[in-house]
Amino acid sequence: MAYDTLGFALFNKCTAKCKHCCFSCSPESQQRIDINRVIQYIKESEEINEIKTIAFTGGEVFLEYPTLLKLVEISTEVGKNTSIATNGFWAVSEEATYDKLYQLKKSGLKHLSISHDRYHSEFISTNNIKNILKVSLNLDIQVSIAIVKLKDEKIGDLIDKIGSDIYPASIKIGACMPVGSAQINFNSSKFDRTMDIKDARCTYGGSLSILFDGKIYPCCSQVIMDTGLYIGDFNKISLEEALYKAKNNALLYFLRNEKMEFFTNYSENVLDEIYPKKIVNPCELCKLLFESNKVERFHDYIMKEAKSKIK
Ligand code: SF4
Ligand code: SF4
Repeated sequence: MAYDTLGFALFNKCTAKCKHCCFSCSPESQQRIDINRVIQYIKESEEINEIKTIAFTGGEVFLEYPTLLKLVEISTEVGKNTSIATNGFWAVSEEATYDKLYQLKKSGLKHLSISHDRYHSEFISTNNIKNILKVSLNLDIQVSIAIVKLKDEKIGDLIDKIGSDIYPASIKIGACMPVGSAQINFNSSKFDRTMDIKDARCTYGGSLSILFDGKIYPCCSQVIMDTGLYIGDFNKISLEEALYKAKNNALLYFLRNEKMEFFTNYSENVLDEIYPKKIVNPCELCKLLFESNKVERFHDYIMKEAKSKIK
């Protein structure tokens, strides 16, 4: 298990209050992590070659632009690539966009991920996204656009509205997950459950994530805060210890190396639990299996299976 990305959700305050926000962020949100500790972690990552990229998300991280700039600078100084996720609220004109992105590019920014879809566009004009795309092309910053959709929702109009500025960007379309605000605002039937749970397998993507509650998680999934899969408190353990814990966790070992049937079969046959036949994606099943108060019930099973692997 390699972790090539160290991600920080710095705080949960946001300019928007999207109906589908997995972290239920809003202008009123107050949780944040200690920036000095973030800097310590970034500096510690210099000695850890496996970590190639430092990623920053929120909330909306451009709300604290000077801090963001400083974090990108420090990450570049220690030899890492950097990536930022944003809703683009700040890109109100090409000039304003250039001002912000020029400084970030000079500090080493490599990649910008813009979140924009029907729900974001209730708060952020699509023109802002066009500004970011134009200026990023000019400054040679890689851009991706993350679009989240519910079942039966059409996204063609939105892409048409962005127009030809979209060509240099990579587009990532994700099914909306039943977590955070989405779980409150949308009826369960709106989520696009097309995956058979028999096919579910964790596709964790190699990211170690530290969220605004200070907990360290072994992936950057939208559901991860709703699970008990955290591996420590970043105020108490070093980055090296966090990586060690993530790599020597028996539950995570089986989650990454077996299909998720490994857990559902045990859960259904021994614990008498029932799971839906269809899920949005493996992360939804992960949430159902490993809610905070449910992780422990796999302990004896996992230890038995781990011992049999060692023999
Ligand atoms: S989805 Fe993104 S832009 Fe919308 S409230 Fe959440 S963090 Fe803010
Ligand atoms: S299946 Fe679980 S561990 Fe894997 S990426 Fe999804 S939430 Fe993370």
